[in-house]
Amino acid sequence: MEDLSGVGIHVNGIVQGVGFRPFIFGLAHKYELTGWVRNTSSGVDIELDGPKNKLESFIQSLDTEAPPLAYIDEVKIQWKLPNGYSHFQIEHSETVQDAFQPISPDVSICPDCLREMFDPSDRRYKYPFINCTNCGPRFTIIKDIPYDRPKTTMAPFEMCVDCAREYADPLDRRFHAQPIACPVCGPQVWLEFKMGSNGGVDPTNPIEKTQGLLKEGKIVAVKGLGGFHLACDATNQAAVIELRSRKLRVDKPFALMMANTETIEKYCDLNDEERKLLESPSRPIVLLRRKPGTDIALENAPGQDYLGVMLPYTPLHYLLFDTREFDALVMTSANLSEEPIVTTNETARDRLVDLADAFLMHDRDIHVRCDDSVVRVYKNNIFPIRRSRGYAPFPVYLSGTPPVILACGAELKNTFCITRGNYAFLSQHIGDMENLETLESFRHGITHFEKLFRIKIEAIAYDKHPDYLASRYALDRVEREAIPGIGVQHHHAHIASCMVENRLPSEKPVIGVAYDGTGYGEDGTIWGGEILLADLLSFDRIAHLKTIPLPGGDLAVRQPWRIALAWLDAAGVEWDEYLPAVKWIMAQPGLLKNFKTQLKTGLNSPKTSSMGRLFDAVSALAGVRHDVNYEAQAAIEFEALADTTEMGMYEFSIIGKEIDPSPLFHQLTEDIKIGLPLPNISAKFHNGVADMTAKICTIVRKERGIDQVTLSGGVWQNITLLRSTLEKLENNGFQVFIHKVVPSNDGGLAIGQAMIAAAQITSQ
Ligand code: ZN
Ligand code: ZN
Ligand code: FE
Repeated sequence: MEDLSGVGIHVNGIVQGVGFRPFIFGLAHKYELTGWVRNTSSGVDIELDGPKNKLESFIQSLDTEAPPLAYIDEVKIQWKLPNGYSHFQIEHSETVQDAFQPISPDVSICPDCLREMFDPSDRRYKYPFINCTNCGPRFTIIKDIPYDRPKTTMAPFEMCVDCAREYADPLDRRFHAQPIACPVCGPQVWLEFKMGSNGGVDPTNPIEKTQGLLKEGKIVAVKGLGGFHLACDATNQAAVIELRSRKLRVDKPFALMMANTETIEKYCDLNDEERKLLESPSRPIVLLRRKPGTDIALENAPGQDYLGVMLPYTPLHYLLFDTREFDALVMTSANLSEEPIVTTNETARDRLVDLADAFLMHDRDIHVRCDDSVVRVYKNNIFPIRRSRGYAPFPVYLSGTPPVILACGAELKNTFCITRGNYAFLSQHIGDMENLETLESFRHGITHFEKLFRIKIEAIAYDKHPDYLASRYALDRVEREAIPGIGVQHHHAHIASCMVENRLPSEKPVIGVAYDGTGYGEDGTIWGGEILLADLLSFDRIAHLKTIPLPGGDLAVRQPWRIALAWLDAAGVEWDEYLPAVKWIMAQPGLLKNFKTQLKTGLNSPKTSSMGRLFDAVSALAGVRHDVNYEAQAAIEFEALADTTEMGMYEFSIIGKEIDPSPLFHQLTEDIKIGLPLPNISAKFHNGVADMTAKICTIVRKERGIDQVTLSGGVWQNITLLRSTLEKLENNGFQVFIHKVVPSNDGGLAIGQAMIAAAQITSQ
């Protein structure tokens, strides 16, 4: 008889609702150990007896064999004398007051469920809500913790005998799968037509009929995991154009869903990392370089060389593609203009009545709105653009334990963030806070997180912009609840968010290169081309793009010709008709006169050092576009043109704190005059900005001895600029940090706000 030992193990992280206890059960059997496992409100507790070497193997397997959705943050081990257990069992959950734990994001259907769904002999054959312990909805159906069926939107569906048996069997792959369902007891889908046309509800063969409608070129609203999509055949040009006109969306790209990666390869270039990401359980939209000359309608993404593509992620999506009637569907968020994505059947019937020809609905409620995530792959890493479904509310792990802080985020692409323990819970995408519906969604989201994670807010961080709705919400709460409020400068927050996700020490300054569209500056001007020396506590604005007037303010963001002419003025370049933007304005004498007055008087012309606006200006001058109909369109289309083999570059002058692109405008206009092709012009501009960035960092390193650089802000979504800048910085011996967890744009801002507030509170 071997000597027995005892061990107590506590596991923290995402370990509930992910098949962790059955996994422990199986592992204990494998190593012939006795004892028990149970969920607690803060994780999982395990007690074991057995030979020491087998206990050690068990502990090692915890890490190496954990179920796919589990995320182990911490394992605490306490060796002890054996307790004398005779067998292994799963014990009842223990509730600890106020304890909390992370919640799993929604997870795409797993290979096992997919196989069953297409197996004619399976009792869930073609059942659109099939799921198991390893897959299915989570975050979007959970109303409260602990994660149990009565606290989800599955509560109204009473399990049938067969489902109940699977649910109760520790060796079944649906053991304690809270959303477990089958055709007998679970949710159902149906097809609905607009009342008045061919009227009413059609419960028979809804999926086949939807396929038929899509094939005919119709637009169908499809209820998904975190909201409705508007779907149409992406290879049907007329359907795509019709969807654009109904949605009043001129050029902003549509996301596409394609049947599988083989299909995606027909239309896009795909490397191994991109394939992995597409197939990952998060199933994000991945930006992929489109192949020329395919039959994906160009209207899906006008002026772009990338397509946003995702794979099916719910069983319902897989069923839609099952006949291979179409290769690709447009799957764009179903909403009116910039309102939040529609989640309830009632709202869909009401708000989408003029957008969709039919509705593929179901009766499992969506408790939490959650848009699709958007990412791209850069240097084998994920580079997030929108972090939402499949990622939120997965926490960002912090190296310390800040106070409990709510950070309210920005105006556009809003997300909020709440810290608790060593977690930062960054919310799903809330959207552009430009209407009451989005503000409501923001409020609800915060209330839900407070409840879900047992939060008692101790302080609130917010952007210093006085007009942001999120900041007003913050100030209002600060006053009402008499808790500290901490205003955080926009670009400091960008740099901090990059520091935090890279786990850089909070008190060691870095060179923060914040290139951005719009952010409220400490001096009341609009910042956005900022070189900061920053740690989490404070920052120094050590250099910035030259500040010039932005005639028309917000209007100039939509009309880049304005900033183009303003920059010509600032750089002392004549407005000459060989420049497309100038020719265009000359043809409109009324507009020209007003604009000149505005420029002269400074009326409604806020001052800005925005890098985003510089991109707009150069794009407009080069003739890419005078007006835009979605954010950053001019810059995105200008980037798409760049010929990456072009080595030339435009120059900036750096004098003291000021980065002046005047030389650039002289060289650029010369190139336009001699008819240099746009791809070369675009490349020379991108190279120039990268080179200027490396130069300014070198100056700072010389003066301050700092060689760590963080790149953050919306402009870094420009991958051509990012690539070129990284190369130049790294060739010059800098250690460069970029985003891999949260977006570099305003969608990642809140986590930076939270950690700056934390640093300020702790330093007091
Ligand atoms: Zn599954
Ligand atoms: Zn059932
Ligand atoms: Fe920003």
